[in-house]
Amino acid sequence: MQKREELYSGKAKSIFKTDDPDRFIMEFRDDTSAFDGVKKAQLSRKGMVNNKFNAFVMEKLKDAGVPVHFEKLISDNESLVKNLKMIPVECVVRNVAAGSLCKRLGIKEGTVLTPSTFELFLKNDELHDPMINEYHALAFGWATQDQLDQMRSLTFQVNDVLKTLFANAGMTLVDYKLEFGLFEGQVVLGDEFSPDGCRIWDAKTGEKMDKDRFRQDLGNVIEYYEEVGKRLGVTF
Ligand code: UDP
Repeated sequence: MQKREELYSGKAKSIFKTDDPDRFIMEFRDDTSAFDGVKKAQLSRKGMVNNKFNAFVMEKLKDAGVPVHFEKLISDNESLVKNLKMIPVECVVRNVAAGSLCKRLGIKEGTVLTPSTFELFLKNDELHDPMINEYHALAFGWATQDQLDQMRSLTFQVNDVLKTLFANAGMTLVDYKLEFGLFEGQVVLGDEFSPDGCRIWDAKTGEKMDKDRFRQDLGNVIEYYEEVGKRLGVTF
C-alpha cells in the first residue's frame, strides 16, 4: 500500500490517499484540542496511544458484527481504513449524565440514565456542532431515514459491546460519540473510538480517565488513556 498526498487534516488526525482509491491511511497525531479548537496542546505519545486503542476497540466491534472502516494497523500512529463518504451527523449515546447534557438540562452529573439516550449533532465547527433531530437530517438531506435507523441501531449495538467490555475492566462507559459513513452503499462506522471521544470513569472511585482530564486541566492525560487501554487489554 503506497501512501500518497494528504487529503485532509483535522484537529487530531490526518487522512492520506493511497494507491487504492477505496483505502485511506488515517494518521493519529499528538495534537489535542477542546472547546471547538480554542484550547490546544501537543501531548507526547498521544497519536500512538489513540491509534492502538482505536484498533483494539474496532477489532472487538468487528468481531461483534459491527461494520467498521478500520482494516489494520500499519505503524505506531497509522491505520489503514476504508474510504467512506461521511454522513455529517454525530451520534451520541449517554449511559450516565455528564457534559453538555448536565449544562443544557440541569441534570446532576452522574445520574444513571434509563434508558440510555441517543442524540444527533450536526458536524459543523463554525456552528459549534448544534444538536439536531431526525427531521432536520431528512429535510436538509444529511441522511435518509434508512441511514438514520441503521446509525441508531448500530450505535446501540456498539453500546452493548462496549459497556460490558469497560465494566469487566472496572470502568464505566459514561457517554461517547460515533460517526458513520457509506461504503458501497452500506452504513459503516468511521472516525475513531478513543478516550478523546468518550467519557470513562473508574467504576469504584469515579475518577475521570478520558478527555475531560484535558478539558478540566486534571493532568496526566495520556497516562490515563494508557491505563484505560491496559485495563481493556491493549498492548502499547
Ligand atoms: N464528543 C466528541 N466530539 C464532539 C462532541 C462530543 O467526541 O464534537 C463526545 C464527548 O467527548 C463526550 C460525548 O461525545 O464523550 C458527549 O459530549 P457532550 O455532548 O457532553 O459535549 P461536551 O461536554 O464534550 O462538549
